[in-house]
Amino acid sequence: MPDTSSGRLYNFSAGPGALPVEVIQAVRAELPVYRKTGASVMEISHRSEEYISIEASARALLRRLMGLEEDWHILFLGGGASMQFHQVPLNFLTHSADYLVTGTWARKAIAEAAKLGHARKVASSEDANFSYIPVRDTWDLNPDSVYLHFTSNNTVYGTQFRESPKASVPLVCDASSDFLSRSIELNRYGLIYAGAQKNLGPAGATIILIKDNFLARRKSGLPTMLDYGTHTAKCFNTPPVFAVYVVEKVLRWLEDQGGIRAIEAVNSRKAALLYNTIDASGFYHGTAAPDSRSRMNVTFRLPNAELENQFVDEARDGGLLALKGHRSVGGIRASIYNACPFAAVLALVSFMKDFERRRG
Ligand SMILES: *Cc1c(COP(=O)(O)O)cnc(C)c1O
Repeated sequence: MPDTSSGRLYNFSAGPGALPVEVIQAVRAELPVYRKTGASVMEISHRSEEYISIEASARALLRRLMGLEEDWHILFLGGGASMQFHQVPLNFLTHSADYLVTGTWARKAIAEAAKLGHARKVASSEDANFSYIPVRDTWDLNPDSVYLHFTSNNTVYGTQFRESPKASVPLVCDASSDFLSRSIELNRYGLIYAGAQKNLGPAGATIILIKDNFLARRKSGLPTMLDYGTHTAKCFNTPPVFAVYVVEKVLRWLEDQGGIRAIEAVNSRKAALLYNTIDASGFYHGTAAPDSRSRMNVTFRLPNAELENQFVDEARDGGLLALKGHRSVGGIRASIYNACPFAAVLALVSFMKDFERRRG
């Protein structure tokens, strides 16, 4: 059981997801008045020294955490990851772009690209309800593609690429649900985007990393707000101030945890504990192919839908929040992002064993 005296439960929400409790407390402490501004952070100019230094600190933390050199631009924009489905091809899709279709979000991304140009499906796992990541030898890659787009973690289906794909063209990645959860082969990428609300902060900010030599390939004559170059050049309009402010605190929290390698080790222990529990039981059944399992969203089924509903309700009564699977697939989904503590996974496993004993 979590310490429910505060009313906060162990949160397995897929998105917006759990934030570190330390961050929530720090926000609360300085919410009415930020530093010496005489106002809250929501009520000061985005051109003020205070806000500029919040953004600068968030950038510096991201550079340190990920090892981003100066040839990477860091943007905090609005519009969510879904806006990037359009903005990426708008900026970069000239003759042809490649897409790996491994889930709902990937399918949306290729659909948007297809409205703007030639978007090729390189491989898909739709034939088996997106339960696996197609193996590399089956990919029909085009060496003349401007980029290869993929979704590093499939939030709905609970699958994840084991490593950054190898391709002769720059990778463009929707990393919304595993951003900063593990280290990646940065030199393969041209652009990485992530909505903040899964692993990084509150909804409202989208983090976009663009390598300078990739940015240089964008088209000209783009609408001002949708041209990445507008935002790499200067602060063009009001950024999502409050979201960036919280993201900066989450990044600091992550550095305090020991950075990406340390959180990656914890994430892998959390996932292993859950998958081992599933595999050791004849009652729970994992839905993702074992070699494609996500370390962020663990999806599984019980023998029938009635038991699944009971599982979700009883878990909620026991202090374990938001375990219902995505409405399009059903079942159970435990989202165990960076901010989900190990103790929460221990509590879930103990609940699972108890539930199986009683209902199995
Ligand atoms: C949640 C999610 C999205 C959609 O994000 P929005 O910010 O709501 O547009 C896109 N891709 C992935 C992988 C996601 O998990």
